[in-house]
Amino acid sequence: MTLNALSPDSKFLQLLREFDRNLFLELKKSGCPHCGGQLDTANYWRKTRGMGVELELCFSLCCRNEGCRRRSKPRSVRFFGQKVYGAWVLIMAVEYCRELGLGGQIARQTIARWRMFWKNHLSESGPFVVWARGLLPIGATITESPGSMFCHFGYPARDSWLLILKFFAQAL
Ligand SMILES: [Zn+2]
Repeated sequence: MTLNALSPDSKFLQLLREFDRNLFLELKKSGCPHCGGQLDTANYWRKTRGMGVELELCFSLCCRNEGCRRRSKPRSVRFFGQKVYGAWVLIMAVEYCRELGLGGQIARQTIARWRMFWKNHLSESGPFVVWARGLLPIGATITESPGSMFCHFGYPARDSWLLILKFFAQAL
């Protein structure tokens, strides 16, 4: 693995935005998960670490049905709930913090928490694991750390990133 394969550049960040936009469009088309109503765009700007320094457009939808009006958020690789770091960092940085250029920037306790997060999500009986087994090659070992599975997606090739993020975003 080379440093280059992982260093995020503006093109990569742009790919993440497009990726999120597609998830947003998919959800918009499928309608409100609560009542099936039509969804209206209700995007907003927010800050997240791991993207650029500018505010980032966060995709969001709102049900048009008078009696529902609930907000729906598409899955995202740039945001992870209300957490300060984006989802893609949570996926990649547990093992590749330094290679991502984030060495020393993320508190050790934060990384430890993320490790716990993955340990829980990648445990034998979890729903993500059941789903993942259907996608990974037969005999692939699912360990407690996402990094150990990156090889199935062609890592460290640069174009493996999006496949990896798409896969692990299902666990978030
Ligand atoms: Zn609704």
